[in-house]
Amino acid sequence: MVKKVRSHITQNEPLLFERSSPGKKGYQLPDLDVPTVSAEEALGADNTRAEIEDFPEVSEVDVIRHFTRLSTWNYAIDLGCYPLGSCTMKYNPRVNELVARTEGLAWAHPYQPESLAQGAMEVMAALEAALAEITGMDAVTLQPAAGAHGEYTGLLLTRALLESRGNPRKKILAPDSAHGTNPATATMAGYAVENIKSNDRGVISPETLAAAVNEDVAALMVTNPNTLGVFEEEIRKIADIMHSKGCMVYMDGANMNALVGIARPGDFGVDVMHLNLHKTFSTPHGGGGPGAGAVAVRSHLEPFLPGPRLKRVGEAWSWNYDLPQSIGRVRAFYGNFGVLVRALAYIMAHGGPGLRLATMDAVLNANYVRKLLEPYYEIAYKAPSMHECVFSDDRQAAKGVRTGDIAKRMIDYGFHPYTVSFPLIVHGALMIEPTETEGKAELDQMAEALIAIADEVEKDPQMVLKAPHTTRTGRVDEVGAARKPVLRWKRS
Ligand SMILES: *Cc1c(COP(=O)(O)O)cnc(C)c1O
Repeated sequence: MVKKVRSHITQNEPLLFERSSPGKKGYQLPDLDVPTVSAEEALGADNTRAEIEDFPEVSEVDVIRHFTRLSTWNYAIDLGCYPLGSCTMKYNPRVNELVARTEGLAWAHPYQPESLAQGAMEVMAALEAALAEITGMDAVTLQPAAGAHGEYTGLLLTRALLESRGNPRKKILAPDSAHGTNPATATMAGYAVENIKSNDRGVISPETLAAAVNEDVAALMVTNPNTLGVFEEEIRKIADIMHSKGCMVYMDGANMNALVGIARPGDFGVDVMHLNLHKTFSTPHGGGGPGAGAVAVRSHLEPFLPGPRLKRVGEAWSWNYDLPQSIGRVRAFYGNFGVLVRALAYIMAHGGPGLRLATMDAVLNANYVRKLLEPYYEIAYKAPSMHECVFSDDRQAAKGVRTGDIAKRMIDYGFHPYTVSFPLIVHGALMIEPTETEGKAELDQMAEALIAIADEVEKDPQMVLKAPHTTRTGRVDEVGAARKPVLRWKRS
């Protein structure tokens, strides 16, 4: 049997628990010069426990090296491109971080009196105004903590408005290309969901929609551009159909990276929408947050926005709690403030023309990648791409290779995979969103990798089916990890 060897800069980093050695400590304190009081005496027996079972005992340097090594296992936007579709994994400019670390903002406390929080309140007011201008809407709340939370807030606003008109209604319509959060949100807000089938161009057709709308429908949830990266070109007509029946149009604005500075949802009939500040406005994301899902509304929904709301009193900002129709708070304090600061820094560093240019580059990049890959992979829909392009694995599937296999092989080529198997209406989807971040050289390299993989599929499919070959861990049991997660370490 070959003995498993651990190299010095270990490739198989053990758990911190496995490094533990009884009595090891990360600190050293001088002898007490006051009488000793046990924790139990000081805090009471109910509030103390004798020992934490299996608590790792390690030195400071053990801890630092453990986590520093783990951090080098990560793929990151600072290492290379991150083409996950529908995620807008753009580079996070360092100026955002510099601004977010400004002492008065970084150390602000949510319980600080208004008179000492004027700067922080000004940041929020300026961001609300900028987002209202970008979306063409009338008012913005910054409270929701993520996109899905913004959707939920938006539907609560819709429900509150319709209730005030006498009937909250029963149903939400959502196209089959919708992000999974849309139907989930609608259900959480107490609505039934009805699916609208996209047509062969990958968009909603007004006729299909008209047939589904009646007085039971509260709203349509539409992503524009949708998750196929296609602009809903009939959106104006779609909004008119909804409004003629007294329904709201909710826009999932997670794909605003294709519209900022070019088109405004407020101008094409949207009543309420969310923005993913952690996508479009460049604050770091992945790994679960923190994010910000700002919600923008037209004036008829404004009275229902979560409170408190910013109010200008003379020369100063104040919090207004006197909001009789408000749905109440949706988040503690004022939202994820650090994310808001980064978003405003990004917007101001770009300025209007800079934001518009970023959008144009994002769309150009997606179409450039599409053109490079179209000879090798099957494009899902012929309609022009906006910020992302979606292929299917049809040609590769003939050789037994699926989108998940191609994604694993990309890792060997040094790239983070694209989004696998989403949107669901494309069988075996490969969804690529390069964002404006990437230059031509990086995109050429990524396309070369995907073209090389397409060639391998023809000549040596096993190479792809067994990938990745170069990582510390090969294919893991993803289903097992999701269904039976092991979250607690047990001494074996
Ligand atoms: C990312 C995304 C969401 C959800 O946003 P979270 O911030 O992850 O909750 C919703 N819809 C679309 C289209 C998205 O891309």
